[in-house]
Amino acid sequence: MMKKYYEADADLGVLKGKKIAVIGYGSQGRGQSLNLRDSGLDVVIGLRPGRSWDAATKDGMKVMKVADAVKAADIIQILLPDEHQGAVFRSEILPHLAENKCLMFSHGFNIHFGQIVPPANVDVIMVAPKGPGFMVRRQYEEGKGVPALIAVQQDHTGKAHKIALAYAKGIGATRAVVLETSFREETETDLFGEQAVLCGGMTSLIKAGFETLVDAGYSPEMAYLEVLHETKLIVDLIYEGGLTNMRKYISNTAQYGDLTRGPRVIGPEAYEAMQEILEEIQTGQFAREWMLENMVNRPMFNALTKADEEHLIEEVGKEVRGMMPQFKK
Ligand code: NDP
Ligand code: MG
Ligand code: MG
Repeated sequence: MMKKYYEADADLGVLKGKKIAVIGYGSQGRGQSLNLRDSGLDVVIGLRPGRSWDAATKDGMKVMKVADAVKAADIIQILLPDEHQGAVFRSEILPHLAENKCLMFSHGFNIHFGQIVPPANVDVIMVAPKGPGFMVRRQYEEGKGVPALIAVQQDHTGKAHKIALAYAKGIGATRAVVLETSFREETETDLFGEQAVLCGGMTSLIKAGFETLVDAGYSPEMAYLEVLHETKLIVDLIYEGGLTNMRKYISNTAQYGDLTRGPRVIGPEAYEAMQEILEEIQTGQFAREWMLENMVNRPMFNALTKADEEHLIEEVGKEVRGMMPQFKK
């Protein structure tokens, strides 16, 4: 079993008198830094001038240029997009990374795949919330927390583990649970999860079901309701109590169809594809492909994104959601 930690296992005092620089104020940057501030910690945001800089200022955060924030801080949490972290690290962070500072991440990508090579005289840790930034914030405001993973890659000061736990407490994660992992395990499982199941698997499954119904002559509105709208209701039940719990709430007919037809949809071919996808992650092939894609300004990323934005399911979805008051902003 993984080692787990709760409120009583973490001491916020470890961070008292220390300054934390959160670099980036996007999804995770905003959520984490507001929680740290409300936990009584000393936070400064490192950014370039622009949209995020204005948002952080409006939230009452102290904002500085990245280099100045790194200079001022003891703990530096890098919450920039993964594909830009290497360049910003080399030009604006590394030159000011004095001995005994602590370098942090919420995803292991850049360390594990060697895009960032920190000096040996700093701590390198990870605190990775298992949820989007707005949930990190919302749960904290409700007195709850989003679970997080912690990992220690480099422990120069001998305090790296305590700092990771304290930071996790500062963002509210110990109110849920904090589990201990390694940079390698977090990076590889996170990439696999989002590619094969959560994002890639899910969107492809939904599109395939939608296209099958529409091609067979059923109305797109019906297809949308059946294969997209209802996924949330089912996923909520799975989230609350696992597969068995979900099956308690669906009809016997649905359960029989689930048990006998599901494995035909996700058959041997899907298992093979998942194995291949995992190997591409483990060998660094995916990381290299994604880094190269960024170097040529993302032609594939942009074309595929656009094609899906123009898919019929997106058009119909707008109409169908427009009929339901619950989706009115
Ligand atoms: P976002 O894309 O939401 O935010 C990125 C931030 O970085 C923005 O504030 C952006 O500011 C800033 N930024 C980008 N380039 C630069 C630059 N050159 N100099 C200064 N600031 C810059 O990132 P996420 O929060 O999604 O991801 C951050 C990290 O958290 C990643 O490692 C990711 O894997 C990890 N993570 C993300 C999760 C999520 O839910 N999104 C979940 C768990 C982990 P600007 O407005 O100026 O562009
Ligand atoms: Mg991820
Ligand atoms: Mg039904």
